[in-house]
Amino acid sequence: MRLKPVQKSKSRPNVLILGGGFAGISCAGQLSDHSFDVCLVDQKPHFEFLPNIHEILSGVKRPKDVRLNLADQMTAMGHRFKQASVQSIAPESKQVTLDDGTTLRYDFLVVALGAVDANYGVTGVDAHAFSFKSAAQCDAISDRLRTLQATAEASRVTIIGAGITGVEALGEILRQGTPGNLKITVLEAQTQLLPNSPKGLDNYIRSLCEPYPVEFRCNETAQRIRQKSVLLGSGKSLSSDLTIWTGGPAPAPLLSQSGLAKPASWAPVDDYLHSLHADDVFIAGDSADLPSSLAKQAYHAIDMGENVAQNLKAITEGSKMKRYRPSPKPQLISFGGLGCIMLAGKWAAGAPLLSAGKEAVFEVAMAQLDRQGGPEKAALLLKRGIRASDKLLWPVVMSPTALLRQKNFQVLR
Ligand SMILES: Cc1cc2nc3c(=O)[nH]c(=O)nc-3n(C[C@H](O)[C@H](O)[C@H](O)COP(=O)(O)OP(=O)(O)OC[C@H]3O[C@@H](n4cnc5c(N)ncnc54)[C@H](O)[C@@H]3O)c2cc1C
Repeated sequence: MRLKPVQKSKSRPNVLILGGGFAGISCAGQLSDHSFDVCLVDQKPHFEFLPNIHEILSGVKRPKDVRLNLADQMTAMGHRFKQASVQSIAPESKQVTLDDGTTLRYDFLVVALGAVDANYGVTGVDAHAFSFKSAAQCDAISDRLRTLQATAEASRVTIIGAGITGVEALGEILRQGTPGNLKITVLEAQTQLLPNSPKGLDNYIRSLCEPYPVEFRCNETAQRIRQKSVLLGSGKSLSSDLTIWTGGPAPAPLLSQSGLAKPASWAPVDDYLHSLHADDVFIAGDSADLPSSLAKQAYHAIDMGENVAQNLKAITEGSKMKRYRPSPKPQLISFGGLGCIMLAGKWAAGAPLLSAGKEAVFEVAMAQLDRQGGPEKAALLLKRGIRASDKLLWPVVMSPTALLRQKNFQVLR
């Protein structure tokens, strides 16, 4: 497929990237050869490596360990960064309006705004539950956990959702061993933990939790979150001193408000990641609704961002655009210091040693995404490496129980 090349008189087409997550920064990184005038907009000053933010709960990582400063990254790439929240997108006039009143024009727009938290119409989520979608939110949960553990009374923690995020959060709370006075309840609306995966994963997580005060309630929904309780679909009420909401991803309302998607839908794209609803608009990452459905995953977002950049180059050169072909990769689901699952299609295995793989993916991906050169990049790499050996390697090496646990390996069916 070819789109109309941009006017020859325009030496550097103006590319506006909305969102500095995985898709946005990988797209920006591929456009750093100075043939485009690129501006990236994000409401936050940092890129955040979301797949590892659960480790903030136990202190294995600090918010700064999972962040890259977007202004520094864009400067290193030769681009501009604007910290602001996108208020509206007007594809017909090729304009984007920000919350500070600024209007930005574009030749090409890359929408990489990720997802918002799905709340399924449950009331009280925003007011009384802790969301799990940013490093700052995980830091707030970590503070609350420490406060509860410092009190003499028994405290109840409720994790709503036993998908990957809910399970990883639970594992991290259990990383320090028996969590003192805490009792944890995990609610899942579907029939098993880690829904839509082999049943063996549910059994594996339950067996790792046997020594701990953890109760699992599957087939159970939350109806309303209150300050100190969760009202269940069954009519019962659970007292809860800390409610963690891991509802999964939902489309940002901005997509439909801008005419890029139907209400409450992801933004549909063709095989080239070009919007079906607007000219010169590409959608990458979680926001995109591909012709065939695809899991909302970081590595897909990175690949989509790069694919969009290649297609922008193809348009300006008048050459053929490249279809986006997702390349499935195994998924690693960590469970604190107790275990880790590798899931590849229908095949799954559980072993604590696999968590070294998850850490390696984090270290390598952060290093690849970080476009700063020289001493800054080396210093960050070193700090992350020291932290990893201090918080992950040494606690295992120094504990005979943890060391023995490393030999456990099981295929999960
Ligand atoms: C807790 C958690 C754990 C996860 N674990 C894994 C995992 O183990 N493996 C895996 O592959 N994937 C995992 N994912 C999914 C993965 O993180 C996402 O698929 C990926 O982040 C999508 O990238 P993206 O660039 O589309 O969106 P994001 O990375 O979410 O980036 C979107 C960016 O847009 C910005 N933004 C949004 N709205 C606005 C606005 N109105 N104005 C300005 N800026 C805005 C946001 O601030 C953000 O920086 C996890 C996600 C979460 C939340």
